[in-house]
Amino acid sequence: MAFDGAESSTRPTQARLSISFLIIGGGIAGLSCALALRRVGHHVKVLERTSRKAARGESGIRLPPNLTKIFFHWDLYKPLKQKALISHCIEFAKYENGDYLGRQVWAQDLLRETRGVFMLLTHAELYDILYDAATRAGAEVEFNAEVVDLDTEEREVTLSSGTTLSADVLVGADGEYGPCRAAVIGQKVRGTPTGLALYDTIVSSDHLPKHLGTVKAENGVLVAFGDNRAVLGFPIHGGKDFVCQFYGPDEAAEGKFGDAPSVSVPSISETLDPRLREITKNASKATRITIRENNDLEDWVEDEGRLVLIGEAAHPFPPGTIQATAMAVEDGAVLAKLFSHLTEERQIESFLYAYQELRQGRTRSVRASEFGNAFFMAMADCDASRQRDAGMRALGQQGVNVLEAGGEASGLWEEIREIFGYDCEDEADDWWVQWGLLRERALGRQGGEDDEEDEEEEEEDAFHHPAPFLNFGAMSVQVSSTQDEE
Ligand SMILES: Cc1cc2nc3c(=O)[nH]c(=O)nc-3n(C[C@H](O)[C@H](O)[C@H](O)COP(=O)(O)OP(=O)(O)OC[C@H]3O[C@@H](n4cnc5c(N)ncnc54)[C@H](O)[C@@H]3O)c2cc1C
Repeated sequence: MAFDGAESSTRPTQARLSISFLIIGGGIAGLSCALALRRVGHHVKVLERTSRKAARGESGIRLPPNLTKIFFHWDLYKPLKQKALISHCIEFAKYENGDYLGRQVWAQDLLRETRGVFMLLTHAELYDILYDAATRAGAEVEFNAEVVDLDTEEREVTLSSGTTLSADVLVGADGEYGPCRAAVIGQKVRGTPTGLALYDTIVSSDHLPKHLGTVKAENGVLVAFGDNRAVLGFPIHGGKDFVCQFYGPDEAAEGKFGDAPSVSVPSISETLDPRLREITKNASKATRITIRENNDLEDWVEDEGRLVLIGEAAHPFPPGTIQATAMAVEDGAVLAKLFSHLTEERQIESFLYAYQELRQGRTRSVRASEFGNAFFMAMADCDASRQRDAGMRALGQQGVNVLEAGGEASGLWEEIREIFGYDCEDEADDWWVQWGLLRERALGRQGGEDDEEDEEEEEEDAFHHPAPFLNFGAMSVQVSSTQDEE
């Protein structure tokens, strides 16, 4: 696919009052939030517990259209284009014998509607893109800076070195196991293991079996359903390597991204299609990531009103799912959009609660859907799994898209379309127009009128850089063959 039609974004509204944000955790959520806040004119410092090398993961990440559209907005299409592959389809097969079930091709009309594309790259590649963009925009990122204590009343954090730092707002982007989630809940809580784990490894693409040719040619994602198991695979590094993410029984109930790889791949792939097992034979060890179920948090904003959670700290997702990273980035994008309207300190609290209101519903429904997908893929052999397979196989034989043309899996389609089509920045803008501005006017503040001028300015800018951001006609791979279009 060519990105030749990509156009630069409009200049975002700049906050009239610049305040300071301390972001605890320099993962994908922390770095993207730092970039988004810098773009609207706030001061940002990120504190990351580990070294830069340790904060980056070598395995693969899938970026759905609802995420790539934000990145295009933030002028990141060029660096993404250099590293990421554009994915055009998903191929479905059976885990145990490779029996082909069918495919889903991402049609042009869907991509146009969502204003994004599907991309595949590594955590480390995405990390570097976000780090470079955030620091270039003026964010400070300090590595080996572990936060060991938080005083939310004083808006202060203490590092393991003994240094204390304070800011107007503390942002907890320190993941499922960091101290911020515990500070908001009032105690340390660990999710309950589900009995399922993700085993993550990378193999060479050189010996991919012939029947997976389209996975290579169209940067497809392979999904193979097994009995209590599944494997999800996709190319990275320009197609040289292939990510294998196995879903299977979790013997240890312990493990997370960033842990040293410890699980022998042949031991977890004994029942895999022999043709695929061939490529995993020489795989290096896999990292085990336990899939835990966490209760939804009632509050993402600490009582004192100046510590707010984003990303995995707010809503841990099942690992490896396509929306985990997207939701983390959407959080920061919404927070920054709201704080672009900051004119007075008294607004801080209401913006934090607006962020919570906007994000909780979205992340809860998407997380439920992602849990459903993980268990849909790794369903034990039963009537339901046989119906799933038979429905897909029948559609596959007709040559139509298996997720959207009826059958057992079609219930997912409307959900998927809605998730991909969502524009979180538009939602934040709508909140401002419907509630924020009204509140300002009720308080007799001038800010509202000034902001209207800003919006006019933005509209003028938008006139000079009209949507869409991508020229879909410039795609070199033909991706539309859906029943809809026929
Ligand atoms: C090393 C690593 C590799 C990963 N690789 C993949 C992958 O290959 N594929 C995939 O789909 N997902 C991967 N993930 C998960 C993915 O990043 C998340 O699902 C999602 O993007 C949201 O991340 P997050 O930034 O909210 O949380 P996380 O990714 O968990 O990041 C939280 C960050 O906070 C830091 N932190 C924790 N405690 C403290 C503290 N006390 N003080 C300061 N900093 C602290 C952590 O070191 C970490 O860098 C990886 C995560 C990590 C940490």
